[in-house]
Amino acid sequence: MSKSADADVIIIGGGHNGLACSAALARAGLTTIVVEQNTWLGGATGTHEVTLPGFKHDLYGSSHVWLHANPYFREIMPDLKAYGLEYIWAEDKITGHPTTKGPGIIIYKDVDKTCESIAWYSKEDAQKYREIYDGFIEIKDGFIKGMFSPPVPPSYLPMAMERSTEGLKMLRDYNLSARAFVEENFTHPEVKNVILGWALAPQIGPDQEAVGQTFYIMIPGIHVYGQAIPKGGSQMLAEALAAYVRDRQGQVLTGSGVEKILVEDGAAKGVRLSDGRELYAAKAVVTSLDPKQNFLKLIDSEHLDESVIRMAKSFSFGNIGVFRAHYAINEAPQFLNGEAMSQTSFQRIFYSVGDTRQHFADIALGVPPRKPFIWTACWTLQDPSRAPNGKHTLIIDTFVPNKLQSGESWEDIKHDYAALVLSKLREYTSNMGPENILCEYVDTPISIERANPCLIGGSTTGGERTLSQSGYFRPMPGYSQYRGPLKNFYLTGASCHPGGGISAMGMVTANEILDDIGWL
Ligand SMILES: Cc1cc2nc3c(=O)[nH]c(=O)nc-3n(C[C@H](O)[C@H](O)[C@H](O)COP(=O)(O)OP(=O)(O)OC[C@H]3O[C@@H](n4cnc5c(N)ncnc54)[C@H](O)[C@@H]3O)c2cc1C
Repeated sequence: MSKSADADVIIIGGGHNGLACSAALARAGLTTIVVEQNTWLGGATGTHEVTLPGFKHDLYGSSHVWLHANPYFREIMPDLKAYGLEYIWAEDKITGHPTTKGPGIIIYKDVDKTCESIAWYSKEDAQKYREIYDGFIEIKDGFIKGMFSPPVPPSYLPMAMERSTEGLKMLRDYNLSARAFVEENFTHPEVKNVILGWALAPQIGPDQEAVGQTFYIMIPGIHVYGQAIPKGGSQMLAEALAAYVRDRQGQVLTGSGVEKILVEDGAAKGVRLSDGRELYAAKAVVTSLDPKQNFLKLIDSEHLDESVIRMAKSFSFGNIGVFRAHYAINEAPQFLNGEAMSQTSFQRIFYSVGDTRQHFADIALGVPPRKPFIWTACWTLQDPSRAPNGKHTLIIDTFVPNKLQSGESWEDIKHDYAALVLSKLREYTSNMGPENILCEYVDTPISIERANPCLIGGSTTGGERTLSQSGYFRPMPGYSQYRGPLKNFYLTGASCHPGGGISAMGMVTANEILDDIGWL
C-alpha cells in the first residue's frame, strides 16, 4: 500500500454485495474500507422496526435462495456463524398458492410432494413439472458456474445449444415469454396461474420474450437450493459480513455517502465523501451502485468516454415498482385452504392468467392495478424471534407503476391502496380483520428509492431484466466483466450480472480484482 492510501481497496455501498466483495478481499489479506451513505448497513437487505418495538420487518429482500448456491459464499458461511448469522431453512413447505377451490397448491422443498399438490388439480401438469425439474438436475452445475462467473459472450449459449435438435428445442423455449411457456406446457387454469405468477417475480412482464429460462432454472432451483431466512432478519447477513470484515483489518463506515470518485490519469484513486473527507485506495475502487449514479453523478464526465455516458443514460429501471405494506399482527393469517396453507410462511395470490395480464396492462397505463395480485410473507412462522412473544409480522406486496398517469403521488394514496391489497388477502383468509392488526407501515416506489438511491423507481432488480440488459450486456456492453471504464475501477452489485437478488455476487467481482493484481 502506498503511504497516502487509506486501504488497498475502497468499496462504495454497504449493501450485502459491497460487503461480500469486501469480505472476500479481506479473507485474501487485502485491507478494505466500505463506505455506506446510510447510518445502517444492508441496503436492500435491511431490517427495521417500522411498526412497533420488537417487530422486525424486512423492508426489502427477505427470501435468501441464490447465495446458498454461490460456491464462494458457501466457503465463508461457516465463519459467519461466529458473527451471528444463522439461517433458518424452510425444510418442508416453501410457498403457498391459495385458490378459491380445493386445497391450493403448495411448493415444498421436496419435489415429489410438490407434484402431489399440483396433481390435485392436474396429473398431466404434475408430470410436466417433474420433467422440468429433472431437466434442471442435468444442467444445474453449468448454470451455477455461469451465474457466479463473469458472463460469457451472447453467442456462446446459442452456439452450444444449436448443435443438437434437443438443444435447439430448448433454446427455442428459452426465447418464449412466460405466458407463452405456461400456455404451451400446462393445462389446468389454476396451475397455469400459479406457474405464471411465480415466473414474474423478477419484475418481468407476462408477454416479455426470452424469459423461458426462468422455468428451467429459477423454478426447479428452489427444490435443490431451498429457501432460508436469517434468524433476526435479513439485516443479519450484512451485520455478519461487516463484523467479518472488521475482524480482518477492514473498516465499514456508515453515514458516509460518496459524492465523487477521484480520478487521476485515467485511474480511480479514491472517493470524496459528502462531509468532504477523501479516502485513497492503493489498488482499486469498487462501486456497488447503479450505472446512473456511477457514470452520471460520481465520476466527472471529463474522465469518461461519451459512449459510456450515453449507455448509462439508456440503462433502464423500467416502469414497475414494488408497493409493500408491513403489519404488526396478533395472529398469523389463517387461510381458507386449510392448515397446510396457513403453516406456509410465504404466499402468492394470483387469480388467473387473464387477471395477471390485466395487472401488467394497468402498470403500462400508469394506473394502480385494480385487481392486484399479492405476495404475503409471515416470516415469524419460520422465525419467531422477529416479533414479541407469539405475535407476528406480515408483508403484503404487489407490483405497481412507479409513476402514476394521474400525476398523483404514491405517498398520498398509499394507505388507500394498502386497504385494497389487504382486502385481497381477506378474501382468502378468516382472521385478517382490523382486530388482528396492531400497526401498519407502507412503503411505495417513492419511499423505497428515498431510502436507497440504487432502488430507482422501487425496482427490485438493479435494472430491468430484459435481454438487452442481461449477461454480457449488463450493465452495459464492454463492461460486463466487472471492470469499469477507468483503470483500477471495478463494478459489482445488482446492476451487474447475474442481476438483482440476494446472491453475494460481490464475491465474484472480488475474485476478478484478486486475479488482476496477481493475488490469487
Ligand atoms: C422490496 C424488495 C424486495 C426484494 N425481495 C428479494 C427477495 O426476497 N429475495 C432476493 O433474493 N432478492 C430480493 N430483492 C433484491 C435484493 O434484495 C437486491 O437485489 C440486493 O439486496 C442488492 O444488493 P446490493 O448490495 O447489490 O445493492 P443494495 O443493497 O442496493 O446496496 C447498495 C448500497 O449502496 C448505498 N449507497 C447508495 N448510494 C450511495 C452513495 N452515493 N455513497 C455510499 N453509499 C451509497 C445504499 O444505501 C445501499 O446500502 C428485493 C429487493 C427489493 C427492493
